[in-house]
Amino acid sequence: MSSTLKGKKGLIVGIANEQSIAWGCAQAFHAAGAELAITYLNDKTEHFVRPLAEKVQARIILPLDVQNENQMSELFQAIEETWDNLDFVLHAVAYAPQKDLHGRVIDCSVSGFLTAMDISCHSLLRLAKGAEPLMKKGGCILTASYYGGEKVVENYGIMGPVKAALESSVRYLAAELGWKGIRVNALSPGPIATRAASGISDFADLMEAACLRSPGCETVSIDSVGAYARFLVSDEARFVTGSTVYIDAGYNIMAG
Ligand code: NAD
Repeated sequence: MSSTLKGKKGLIVGIANEQSIAWGCAQAFHAAGAELAITYLNDKTEHFVRPLAEKVQARIILPLDVQNENQMSELFQAIEETWDNLDFVLHAVAYAPQKDLHGRVIDCSVSGFLTAMDISCHSLLRLAKGAEPLMKKGGCILTASYYGGEKVVENYGIMGPVKAALESSVRYLAAELGWKGIRVNALSPGPIATRAASGISDFADLMEAACLRSPGCETVSIDSVGAYARFLVSDEARFVTGSTVYIDAGYNIMAG
């Protein structure tokens, strides 16, 4: 039987379109009975995100550029006014300037490094800080990482160090918030063809190699990530925190 999320309220940050990992998760959360707040990056993406948010009957649909402090505080204010409580947050956001992403890590500019770190990693800390006072009965915070934060993956470039920092942040947040019943975990999916992924050079080759190397020889889907995320935010996963969990058909266990 799949985990129920009936009565739970969750915030989803990171839907760009129907291919987004966050969309796979939003559908799974909705199907399990959760009420959702969904954000979109800007006017351009609203056009794609709003119809999806309406499909899962999101109670709150608001803009959020994670670098915009006002939008961040307006979002948490809206959540407080609507629900007075929050049970889970999904942070599925990543960005690095193309020039820095496509170059060697050693050549990454200071500004590119800071932008990638701010949007892809520190934004998790900001979301956690906003969520903490609303998670009055405990809660679960999820982010999305990738194996390239742990091992060197060709063409993943500066996002590797950024994901390493993200996974470490998950452990520190989990340790700091555990006494409040707030769990923090990172999902680590295998390669999936999304808009963010299209920014990585030769991504199709990466997908093919991952499929061939994984024990099951399978490509991961956003639905399979959603199913795992649904479990993690449910009460059934109450003893799982500070972890990076692979949804990669076993790719991470293979030597290469
Ligand atoms: P995606 O392009 O669908 O999602 C990335 C999201 O980040 C988009 O919704 C975009 O609007 C958002 N974003 C970028 N800058 C932002 C900002 N300043 N403020 C708010 N939102 C911003 O791609 P995805 O693959 O679903 O990516 C989601 C997460 O999953 C990312 O953290 C990514 O690194 C991670 N991930 C992806 C894969 C993969 O193969 N696709 C594998 C492992 C982990």
